[in-house]
Amino acid sequence: MDIYQSVEQFYNAAGTEKAIIGKSVLGRNLYAVKIGDGSPVGIAQYAMHGREYITARLAFKHFAVGVKKGSFWLIPLVNPDGALLCEIGLDSVKREKDRSRLLELNKSTDFSLWKANARGVDLNVNFAARWGKGAKNVRTAGAENCIGERPFSEPETKALKAFTEYIRPDYTVSYHTKGEEIYWYFYQSIRVCPRDKSLALALSRSTGYPLCMAKNSVGGYKDWCIQRFGIPAFTVEAGMDGYAHPLGGEALRDINEKNGYALYDLSEAYQG
Ligand SMILES: [Zn+2]
Repeated sequence: MDIYQSVEQFYNAAGTEKAIIGKSVLGRNLYAVKIGDGSPVGIAQYAMHGREYITARLAFKHFAVGVKKGSFWLIPLVNPDGALLCEIGLDSVKREKDRSRLLELNKSTDFSLWKANARGVDLNVNFAARWGKGAKNVRTAGAENCIGERPFSEPETKALKAFTEYIRPDYTVSYHTKGEEIYWYFYQSIRVCPRDKSLALALSRSTGYPLCMAKNSVGGYKDWCIQRFGIPAFTVEAGMDGYAHPLGGEALRDINEKNGYALYDLSEAYQG
């Protein structure tokens, strides 16, 4: 079973509140499943970068563990097209037209390091938060770093934006897999820094990952949540730097072990 089928099966089996929040470029569903009830409300999103699709399975673990307080919406696979390109390659793409375009963008049939969506836009630099000002930002579509024509030019980021504006979460967590670190800062006012940092420290205690201040990157979901809503928002980079992308089963055990209680512990630490 591929990662999309696994998420689909998880979604169908979930007996809690759930929603399809939008569709990917290639028409795949973006699934969201709720755990817990009431306030505070969080959103956790996973696998925005294709090659980091292993984190979708961490969402299953978070579903099983639940939260201590309030609720969390889990969006296990924000970039299903990119994930399947990485996992399966061009055979995951139905239309010949899309296949040849993607081959042109990647310049190789090996998509195992692909991060972007099916239009070659890197979703985590497509949000309206200092958009296009990142050190690695490019305008050329490809496997990574392309910011898109404008903020929210992509169906996946549009869907996440609309859902987040609808839910109005108290905090958000984004899961990636580049080294073991937690990011919490994005030019928020000094007044809210202690609040945000103390929650980041709760995540740090839970996972064992250190906090990281700056990343020289902009336009991410976390960045946009902080800027748009003034809420605490976190990026957790799970998985050791030494793991090769895409991460396999051994990495999943390690990631689940360290991150299994992250949302649970974060909800406990939240002071509303
Ligand atoms: Zn990432």
